[in-house]
Amino acid sequence: MKTIGILGGMSWESSALYYKIINEATHAHLGGQHNARSVMVTVDFDTIEQLQHADRWDEAAAILRDAAQALERAGADFILIATNTMHKLLPQIREGITIPFHHIAQATADAIKEQGLTRIGLLGTRFTMEEDFYKQILIDNGIDVVIPKESERDLIHKVIYNELCLGTIENASKEAYLDIIARMVQDDNIEGVILGCTEIGMLISQEDLTLPVFDTTEIHALSAVSEALR
Ligand code: GLU
Repeated sequence: MKTIGILGGMSWESSALYYKIINEATHAHLGGQHNARSVMVTVDFDTIEQLQHADRWDEAAAILRDAAQALERAGADFILIATNTMHKLLPQIREGITIPFHHIAQATADAIKEQGLTRIGLLGTRFTMEEDFYKQILIDNGIDVVIPKESERDLIHKVIYNELCLGTIENASKEAYLDIIARMVQDDNIEGVILGCTEIGMLISQEDLTLPVFDTTEIHALSAVSEALR
């Protein structure tokens, strides 16, 4: 069994989900008293979030690179960056690291292709929805990516930072997210939706929707277990 390195704390709410899913899935595969071999480094999200919104990405990258180096020193065989957004900084984070990174967007693209879908809605932070670092990987895998409208993106982004990353679950926000998805089904003909932020699965899940839901936390964590047990 390989040792999974989790670069966590963005937010700790979703890192806790990663930890649970990874250990439960490993136990389901191996039985007995088995759990996953893992190490986690947790950064302080208050600092990271301030640097993101101040457009000081290089400083955030330096913090995450230090954390990745610590994971490598601690014996991780590969690294999961437990957030979609911070994959924006992967080129800088991986500098000087010799172990591989298990990319969340590639794992998600693989899950979508497995279901034979080609036109997908993407919900996430503004950074993930609006910039290319994430969408391009999906596009390179033959997937058409549709993002919400400006006002909808604003709402989705605010709910992530002001509620979900703090562990707050509001029914009104859940309804708002479901309305956005319903509108995208109607206007944009999406065949499925990516929960492209590792906290969105705390708010909505496959049980709330009839179209296929791709929860990136679950996909990323489960694909890491497959990699660890391969
Ligand atoms: N966990 C979130 C994501 O998956 C957002 C927090 C962050 O900015 O890293 O994008």
